[in-house]
Amino acid sequence: MTETLTALPASVREVFQTVVARNPHEPEFQQAVHEVLVSIAPVLDEHPQFVDGGILERIVEPERQIMFRVPWVDDAGRLQVNRGYRVQFSSVLGPYKGGLRFHPSVNLSIVKFLGFEQIFKNALTGQGIGGAKGGSDFDPHGRSDAEVMRFCQSFMSELYRHLGEHTDVPAGDIGVGAREIGYLFGQYRKITNRHESGMFTGKGVQWGGAEVRTEATGYGAVFFAEEMLRIHRRSLEGLRVSVSGSGNVAIYAIDKAWQLGATPVTASDSSGYVVDDDGIDVALLRQVKEQERARISEYAARRPNARFVDGARPWEVPVDVAIPSATQNELDESDARALIDNGVRAVAEGANMPSTPGAVAALQGAGVLFGPGKAANAGGVATSALEMSQNASRQRWSFSDSERKLRSIMKDVHDAAFEAADRYGHGGDYVVGANSAGFERVAHAMLAQGVI
Ligand code: NDP
Repeated sequence: MTETLTALPASVREVFQTVVARNPHEPEFQQAVHEVLVSIAPVLDEHPQFVDGGILERIVEPERQIMFRVPWVDDAGRLQVNRGYRVQFSSVLGPYKGGLRFHPSVNLSIVKFLGFEQIFKNALTGQGIGGAKGGSDFDPHGRSDAEVMRFCQSFMSELYRHLGEHTDVPAGDIGVGAREIGYLFGQYRKITNRHESGMFTGKGVQWGGAEVRTEATGYGAVFFAEEMLRIHRRSLEGLRVSVSGSGNVAIYAIDKAWQLGATPVTASDSSGYVVDDDGIDVALLRQVKEQERARISEYAARRPNARFVDGARPWEVPVDVAIPSATQNELDESDARALIDNGVRAVAEGANMPSTPGAVAALQGAGVLFGPGKAANAGGVATSALEMSQNASRQRWSFSDSERKLRSIMKDVHDAAFEAADRYGHGGDYVVGANSAGFERVAHAMLAQGVI
């Protein structure tokens, strides 16, 4: 953790100390647990049965952690070995559910922070899904399709035994898009001899995938921003929006921002960001990032009024709304201050934990509407649950029906977080609201199901 963490209430201090002692080299996991513990203290005061039932001690420990070797052969005939992970955090509300991330930065701490967050996010959607996350330190960048396929086949050759439509249902995340999901699903089908559509979400729409799943996280984050603004009798119409990232979440956040009358002006990747005062051209961005798998500077090279800023993040650009959609801890306190100084009104997190604790405190302290990822990016997993329903009932819903459902789910997620924040005396604080509403649901189910 790069920034000082705020003091913890006495009711949760001991649990956090145990988490730190047991997981000493896992700063991201500690950060995610800390954020939840700080914000659910009022829930514990009101529900002493959660403390007596040992809910906290149990919820911070994954039900199961799987780590495995992933050997594969590259195009030059050399043996490569990566490490695979699946952390199955909680199945109290339904089968484990959460994405797979392929990125060189992946380690146990990252997978555990994501899996922990996923429990409460999934609970907040109101659907019957548990929390999990997985992935590998494999880097798909610069790898041929054949190498990616061989890696995915090796990865699934181990992971398949832990998955299943009633057990654990993965999806995509950073570095795991349509191509990787296809290869992973294909290998699962071959090994098990089962075309078990419900064991993976984010599938191609031609073979069991749901309409709007690809768009859902980005669209959902923009719907969430719209809901926060609506409470203050504002809309997105005419506002300038900055988005970070240029992957699945970012592209569709930019797309939906345009559709709702805003002008998205930035996109980024790990090399830097582009700012385009004419508004980001979604078709060109998709061409550069999805088709050519090129660097973001290529976008600026082809747009007359766009410029590439090397090695920087887009938060210095003046905007009304910011939607961080790349990765964890990509918006720190000084970025938050730059946004505030430039008059930002709302921040909705498309990524998981993109804002550091210092950034969140600064934004909330300045009265900026702040939608944490647990709520604002829940549209992706909620639409995954819709994909599971369609697979189970062998139905296919249209794009417009699915988008209508997504919009209504995002309104419900917003309202649940807003209402819980109010109920616990933290009106307008969506961090407290999202954590409290998600935690309440999980804790009640854990109490009902006994000590397991
Ligand atoms: P993608 O792989 O499609 O895109 C990731 C984007 O973020 C790329 O532009 C990538 O740039 C950039 N990025 C990744 N790591 C870094 C880094 N360390 N520094 C700067 N930029 C970085 O992933 P998604 O769009 O699916 O995921 C983005 C975020 O949204 C993640 O936090 C993920 O957990 C979260 N999320 C995703 C959901 C989904 O449905 N896909 C659901 C809910 C949350 P580069 O190409 O240079 O690596």
